[in-house]
Amino acid sequence: MGRAFRIKVRMRRFRRRHPRISFAIRSFMIFSATFGAAYGFIAGSRAERSGYDPNAFAIGASFLFALACLGLATLSMRLRFVNKRLRTLAQHNEALVDRNWELKEAEERARSLFESQGDLIVLRDHQGRITFANDAYCALAGQPRSALVGTPFNFDLVEQGDSVLEGSGTRIHDQKIATSFGTRWIAWREGLVRLDAGHPAELQSVGRDVTDRTETERALSEARDQADAANRAKSRFLAMASHEIRTPLNGIMGMSGLLLDTALTPEQATYARAVKTSGEALMALIEELLDYSKIEAGKLDLEQRSFALSTLIEEITELLAPRAQAKNLEIASYVDERLPLEVVGDAARLRQVLLNLAGNAIKFTAQGGVALIVEPGMRPNEISFLVRDTGIGIAPEAQSRIFREFEQADERVARTYGGTGLGLAISERIVKRMGGRIALESEPGRGSTFEVSIPLQPSNAAAGQTAFPGTDLTGKSILLIAPQGIEPSLLARRLERWGGQACLVSDPDVALALLPERSWHAVLIDRALGRDVVERLGEAARTHAAQRLVLLTPVTRHEQQLSPAFTGYLVKPLRAASLAARLSLTPDIGSPDLAPEPPSESPKTKPAPANPTKGLSVLVAEDNEINALLMRSLLTRLGHRAVIATNGEAALESWLAAKSAGTPYELVLMDIQMPQLDGIEAAKRIRAREAGEPGRHTPILALTANTLVEDRYACFEAGMDGFLIKPLDREKLEEALATLTASRQLAV
Ligand code: ADP
Repeated sequence: MGRAFRIKVRMRRFRRRHPRISFAIRSFMIFSATFGAAYGFIAGSRAERSGYDPNAFAIGASFLFALACLGLATLSMRLRFVNKRLRTLAQHNEALVDRNWELKEAEERARSLFESQGDLIVLRDHQGRITFANDAYCALAGQPRSALVGTPFNFDLVEQGDSVLEGSGTRIHDQKIATSFGTRWIAWREGLVRLDAGHPAELQSVGRDVTDRTETERALSEARDQADAANRAKSRFLAMASHEIRTPLNGIMGMSGLLLDTALTPEQATYARAVKTSGEALMALIEELLDYSKIEAGKLDLEQRSFALSTLIEEITELLAPRAQAKNLEIASYVDERLPLEVVGDAARLRQVLLNLAGNAIKFTAQGGVALIVEPGMRPNEISFLVRDTGIGIAPEAQSRIFREFEQADERVARTYGGTGLGLAISERIVKRMGGRIALESEPGRGSTFEVSIPLQPSNAAAGQTAFPGTDLTGKSILLIAPQGIEPSLLARRLERWGGQACLVSDPDVALALLPERSWHAVLIDRALGRDVVERLGEAARTHAAQRLVLLTPVTRHEQQLSPAFTGYLVKPLRAASLAARLSLTPDIGSPDLAPEPPSESPKTKPAPANPTKGLSVLVAEDNEINALLMRSLLTRLGHRAVIATNGEAALESWLAAKSAGTPYELVLMDIQMPQLDGIEAAKRIRAREAGEPGRHTPILALTANTLVEDRYACFEAGMDGFLIKPLDREKLEEALATLTASRQLAV
């Protein structure tokens, strides 16, 4: 079947391709058939040859007639079949005409859409000649389409922006071009399109006029740059202003400090102290404002260093203890022992937050005390710092407001306690920057608890260690006799964590009755119960407890002569390490062990530092007369010899003169901002002179009121060895000089 069809198709194809040959073949076949039939008929009708038989003739004739009829019938059927096909073809033809018309219409629509597009559309052949450009393109070019098509027209380029090639091969780029409407920014998308098979692809470019957007973006970016510059200028200004304020403050605070060291009448001493306190308050205010502006300007950079939690908390407690004890308040801390020994974070900023919260707690508490408790937080690796007080409390409606800048709980608070209302705003921002949060729970009249929760990763260096130095008190009983309060309860909690049995008693008579009840490992008696009571309890405990410790404050420590009834003392606020060390001792009953507890008292009660060697010869470069005088007095008091130079130039000369005379200075204290030659430049020149010479270089410490990190870097870059922040802290100066003296002794 297939084969027959193939033959038929081939024959048809042959007929179509060679119509003449097929006509000749057809004519020849018709002629042969006609001739054959006629010849046969005539030959057959010859009587002499055929033996004519009329019957046979009739049969033959009718057969031929039938054959002719069959042929005619076949032809008629074929004709009908052909007619039918013709009708179908006519219908197809009509549909095709319709389709063609629709296509033309669609093309027309697409073309008009293309042409009337707001975006620029242009097609170019492989030689860059335009084959199509829409109305928008023509309008921007200022020429009719007919003038553009076939030409390599392009706009004049004013500026070329960045170009990006997409994965699909489309190139995206911005251009600033010169047009008949002035310069415009166009965002182009360009790609190759193949319009007709067999022809090279064309480059289709679609451009959108983004002039307005680009200009807005540029204006925005310029505005941002200006704002940044203004911000920098503001920070700089603040730093400058704070420097300018600190310099005279330095004089006020330092001089009043010196004045207080001289013989004064009580009235004069009160005035001098008031001057000093006011100076300190002003200083704290400047620090806060500077800090706030830094945070506002987004300049709060956090450090990531490992630090010991317990040390931080104990230092904060000890720092605030004098303030609390001066108000007869208790202050105590407790760090949960499940916490890691060291964590990674910004200890200085955390200290700032906790100092502020605990400082507020002391400020707003008249009775009772303040506790700093550190516990594991709700989330993994989160640590909760609780600052709890028994103070005035905060009304519910003020609780969220006080975290806003310059907000205080109420007018009365502001009048009674002073303050700026910035502390909590700063603290909250710092905590948020650390990824944590501050929560507050408070009831007016009953106290407040601020909870700071921050994620702090345990430090790898201390991984696996337990949190704190402790001691094993398993099976040991400790009697704690103290007035009810924060510290004794935290102390009892700690002793129990160490395995001991803590018995907390606040009534001395009950304690006396309890003492003979069992053998105590230690009895801890708070001096706050009163001197006589403490003595009596100590005596009574002699035979019942191996360790008899008295809990003192730095003030009572100086008042109290330790009686032999006691084996030692501990200074409040207690350090976990000291407590552990004391409780693990096996004391020699009867002889008091006065091994000193690390001091936590105020500087006033500190003994004056011994000055074992001859003082240093110090060059002080300082242009401010009062500050120079202050430095000289401080240095002289500390047993050193000071020479003053009032500018960088003079300092350099003095340094050179001393060096060539063979008595070089052992230290240069260099103010940074000085006329003629500033401190940085003077230090650089000193270092340049030293560079070629053998021997030790002169230590240079910068004296600066600028706390900006950049300024500190500048000091180090200039070759200085460190810096002292103004207003000069007498202890810091002492410390710096002591370090230097020690290193000098080592070097000798
Ligand atoms: P400042 O203490 O300088 O006024 P803060 O921002 O530190 O500023 O505190 C804002 C206000 O919140 C305080 O003025 C006080 O009214 C209230 N406040 C803060 N801490 C306490 C607290 N522990 N007890 C009672 N009130 C507090």
